[in-house]
Amino acid sequence: MRILQGMIDYMQLNRHRRYSKDQLRNYQLKQLKKLYHHATANSPFYRKLYGGRSFETLEDFYKLPLINKQLMMDNFTDLNTCGIVKEAVSEYALRRERDQDHLHYYQDQYVIGLSSGTSGNKGIYITDRSLTERLPFVFLARSGIPLRLLPFRILFMLRVFSQGFDDINSRFISLSYLSTMTPVDAVIEQINTLKINVLMAPPSMINRLLPGISEITSDIRLVVTYAEVLSLEEKEKFKRTFQAEVIEIYQASEGQMASACKYGHLHVNEDLVFVELYDERNQLIKEPDVVGHRMVITNLVNHAQPLIRYEMNDMIVLDTPCRCGSNFRRIKKVLGRHDDLLYFYRDGQEQYVFPDLFVRWIIVTSEKIREFKVIQYRINAITVKLDLIDSDSTIEEALTEKLTRELSHFGILEPEISIEMERIELPKERNKFKRFENHSGRNR
Ligand SMILES: [Zn+2]
Repeated sequence: MRILQGMIDYMQLNRHRRYSKDQLRNYQLKQLKKLYHHATANSPFYRKLYGGRSFETLEDFYKLPLINKQLMMDNFTDLNTCGIVKEAVSEYALRRERDQDHLHYYQDQYVIGLSSGTSGNKGIYITDRSLTERLPFVFLARSGIPLRLLPFRILFMLRVFSQGFDDINSRFISLSYLSTMTPVDAVIEQINTLKINVLMAPPSMINRLLPGISEITSDIRLVVTYAEVLSLEEKEKFKRTFQAEVIEIYQASEGQMASACKYGHLHVNEDLVFVELYDERNQLIKEPDVVGHRMVITNLVNHAQPLIRYEMNDMIVLDTPCRCGSNFRRIKKVLGRHDDLLYFYRDGQEQYVFPDLFVRWIIVTSEKIREFKVIQYRINAITVKLDLIDSDSTIEEALTEKLTRELSHFGILEPEISIEMERIELPKERNKFKRFENHSGRNR
């Protein structure tokens, strides 16, 4: 039954990607209205928030009030449509975390996800079991995996190990799951034993596998990354090391944001999330190459915990249309989170620098950098922590020189940069690995 539903989803999702602009707009509007009616009928929070206000067009929809993670959490019990009480579900989530018990559904019906924020504000996300069970096929339909790789033997490294994810074994597809907490040796053994040809994992996990690459005997043809930003340089590095195609899925606790087409270009999943992008002056972005400082999303498929016009922290830039012909907007770059901006002085004024630039500058400095972190304690000063594959006495000077030179192009002339060598472990809790930490108080 799951496989059958999965195939139907697979075909439907592929059809959506070929929608004309008008079809897409109509589809989105229809889904938004459906969600709105469900939310106002079943969620006291939304009923109160909208106070009878409705919408007929997308332009009117843009005028509905915004929500964010804080509001969502403050009104958790009234917001969700399944009668889940915040205190009870928090207690459940913590207990499950403590006991490492990921085998049961909440109330036999829901998957509970947790996310942490920079200021420590946890988010709790509810997904209905039936939707979760369909997610592997959504990933597949949207992963750009070419059919010539059949049969797919996929290893999916999950940051959040959840119940909907049972192994699948059929003639054309086998899908196995491992937690990203699994030791590297065990992951490599699993890759070899199962003859994995498609590896799906967050970039930080792929980085951990690189030193052991010579022990991988299986012919990995495709690497799919998700959960963290994949920089162009990292993508190239993975391509070179694995001798495989590398594509990216852009996913958040709030929804399946974007995934790659057959050309490896990232497109917004317009049928799963409705994404509004705003520039620095709060104008709706309709053109490519404008930095989206604010992203407002509506999850079109999750009715258990409706997220309608929910403000996210991510910054992205759109690209020109793709040669694959899809009208799903193409993403040029995921710049990272607004929280991750780094601040310096330029002519005595504050000047921010995008985190993705730092990723690039650091990665291109040396192949020996396995992982890194950039920490800002005060404006104009950063500490870069490096975890090296092999020791290298020249790296500190080379990186300081590189960062100083690159920052000077922005008119930032006297940055304070300190470099520290440190073994960087992935987080023990199921939090996302964070490469940037800003404690300067600037990003509040
Ligand atoms: Zn494309």
